[in-house]
Amino acid sequence: MRIRQKYRMRTPSTGREIVLEAEFGKRYVDRESGEDLEVVAQLLPLAPTPSELPWAVENLRFCNHCDQLAQKDLNDCPYCGRRMEALGG
Ligand SMILES: [Zn+2]
Repeated sequence: MRIRQKYRMRTPSTGREIVLEAEFGKRYVDRESGEDLEVVAQLLPLAPTPSELPWAVENLRFCNHCDQLAQKDLNDCPYCGRRMEALGG
């Protein structure tokens, strides 16, 4: 089973943001204004995950074991499954 990617999308004129499970390349429009939604951030693609932080640089860190980017609020690396070093250590 394939889990859909979640995206944070924004309506340009209002700045309102919503989280959608979207398919890349498909067009999504605001229900009220009919405007095209902009993709603000991609949420972690490795669902299921306990993290809901958007996949944005300021929310990411490098795993000290496998060097992959993982979200800061996770204790265990979603790639290698090992416990990451405490932040600021
Ligand atoms: Zn890792």
